[in-house]
Amino acid sequence: MQLFKKRAYIPITKHSQISEETDNPMVPDGMFAQCPSCKKAIYTKDLGAEKICPECSYTFRIRAQKRIELTLDEASFEEWYHDIPFENPLNFPDYDKKIEQAQKKTALHEAVLTGKGTINGIETAICVMDSHFIMGSMGKIVGEKITRTFEKAIEEKLPVIIFTASGGARMQESILSLMQMAKISGAVARHSDAGLLYVTVLTDPTTGGVTASFAMQGDIILSEPQALVGFAGRRVIEQTINEELPDDFQLAESVLENGFIDKIVPRKEMKQLLSDILRMHQ
Ligand SMILES: [Zn+2]
Repeated sequence: MQLFKKRAYIPITKHSQISEETDNPMVPDGMFAQCPSCKKAIYTKDLGAEKICPECSYTFRIRAQKRIELTLDEASFEEWYHDIPFENPLNFPDYDKKIEQAQKKTALHEAVLTGKGTINGIETAICVMDSHFIMGSMGKIVGEKITRTFEKAIEEKLPVIIFTASGGARMQESILSLMQMAKISGAVARHSDAGLLYVTVLTDPTTGGVTASFAMQGDIILSEPQALVGFAGRRVIEQTINEELPDDFQLAESVLENGFIDKIVPRKEMKQLLSDILRMHQ
């Protein structure tokens, strides 16, 4: 059973075959892509650096490295904690292989990239989650990297910005995964007690334990347009309450209307707004 709603994305490849990864609205490698929102075939070059559909403004999911490139000043990123060793704490079958595959596919060490850099000249700690790495799921290493980033940010008196993207807890780590919610929340509180700013940017999809903890603990909570933001998935809720949910259920726009998000910010305006927020709180 699929717990989390996925938007259908069908890339048009050279051989018109549908690849195994068609369920992710990621930026395709081919020349054309079908936009998951307006369904039009788009020349991938027309998506531009920000990867936005020119027809309907749909914002494609992007890799963590791309996000760093769009957000931070050129060559200012210094990566932290990329060498925490992997463990398979519950000896979950094939978990090691899954991690290896994800590392190869994304060139990331885990589902979050952590470090510091500058935005229009202002220094900040930053964590960027990547949904291409086992659906951005949160295990021990993700929790550890984010917690240590907050601790280092306290030492260096830096604000923290987190771009969230997650299907929730890493099921291969069971309760150890859920414990990360409390661990990170503790670090967020210590960072806040030190009088430092924490901004979250919710990107598509932000769900499960990440929504239930640090994604919603930012002093300022921003979101990208049309991002899926929720806890349990639509189908689970529909089956539980035995009712059909509205079309905009769990879309950032309706979450904003219900008061959980401060502002929805188009990708092209995100860097400028983040630097304005950082400057105001310096
Ligand atoms: Zn479109």
